[in-house]
Amino acid sequence: MSPATARSAITGIRCVSCGRTYDHHGKFNTCPACGSILSCTYDTEKAKETLAQSALERRVKSLWRYTEVLPEVRPDNVTSLGEGCTPIVRLAAGPLLKDDGLIPTGTFKARGMSVAVSKAKDLGLAKLAVPSAGNAGAALACYAARAGLSAKIYMPVETPRSMVAECQAYGADVVQVKGNIGDAGAAMRSQRDGYFDMSTLKEPYRLEGKKTMGYEIAEELGFELPDVILYPTGGGTGLLGMWKAFDEMETLGWIGKERPRMFSVQSENCAPVVDAFSAGKEEPDPAYPDGRTVAVGLRVPRPFAGKQIVSVLRESKGGAVKVPDSEVLVAARALAREGVLACPEGAATLVGYQSLLDRGEITRDERALLYNTGTGLKYLELFQ
Ligand SMILES: *Cc1c(COP(=O)(O)O)cnc(C)c1O
Ligand SMILES: [Zn+2]
Repeated sequence: MSPATARSAITGIRCVSCGRTYDHHGKFNTCPACGSILSCTYDTEKAKETLAQSALERRVKSLWRYTEVLPEVRPDNVTSLGEGCTPIVRLAAGPLLKDDGLIPTGTFKARGMSVAVSKAKDLGLAKLAVPSAGNAGAALACYAARAGLSAKIYMPVETPRSMVAECQAYGADVVQVKGNIGDAGAAMRSQRDGYFDMSTLKEPYRLEGKKTMGYEIAEELGFELPDVILYPTGGGTGLLGMWKAFDEMETLGWIGKERPRMFSVQSENCAPVVDAFSAGKEEPDPAYPDGRTVAVGLRVPRPFAGKQIVSVLRESKGGAVKVPDSEVLVAARALAREGVLACPEGAATLVGYQSLLDRGEITRDERALLYNTGTGLKYLELFQ
């Protein structure tokens, strides 16, 4: 099923730092001029011609329903397994929870990879590589398998065995690297084997897949955004993606000027974004080289987009909070007892929510949404 007659309204890709623009028919990683993040731009007037709120009902039940504001990909190259359109449920503690545990590969990394792999295939790339703490690798391996492309995943040796097995099941090559995800990235870049770098925010299209989180929250809540969103932050793609979606939806006339207050939740053991925010700094310092946490997706000591993440938190009048692993495990069990088997990253947002209430940074009157980024089924050893 493809969205009838809908076409991408993409106009190009633009560097978020120097503003230079590039042709979206080219193969790009970061900005060739300054090395910063590249981000897709759209002609929203053109998008509006076919992308009306009322048109969405008849669209495919996946993130590809927002085609006009996704990259241009020939229909044969669209690599989809029905990712997106995940439910929002209310928790006993009050807030809403959007559950991306219910998505191919069991984590929201599928959103980014569905779009990025589709575009890579459309550009004629055949070999794709990524450094990963586990979930991004599995998602790349999965979508590469679906697209008939090769995938190579660089993972820290400590990555749970099940995640290595998952990548291998999809037919990917797994390279295990001593150290953290930064070391895995360095190992990947030291190879000259013709693999295209699919690292977080080092190609323009995973962000486009992740931004559909913002579109879905709006659509599912009748275009009334929550007052507060808590997001478990690693590299920050989801946070930047939602923020981008809100801006696009405003130009589409779908929402007004108000924005949710955005909060980053990180593990006490690896909290570069929280520290930078709390210290009033513009971007995180390199810290936590050995920060281990049960929330492996949050183990990103040096987020490439650190500056952009901190800036969104400030602009939205949100904030940042770090949580101890011990409480994350308690929260994960509590969520499971109400039927939501969340990943520890997602459970961390519930801990963050309680802590922000206690600190008076948010109130119970504010409509809050916690983002659960994956399923606890991938982390069952934590529940034993
Ligand atoms: C990768 C990951 C995150 C962090 O996502 P970013 O986009 O890197 O901030 C959160 N939760 C899970 C389960 C992940 O796999
Ligand atoms: Zn630039």
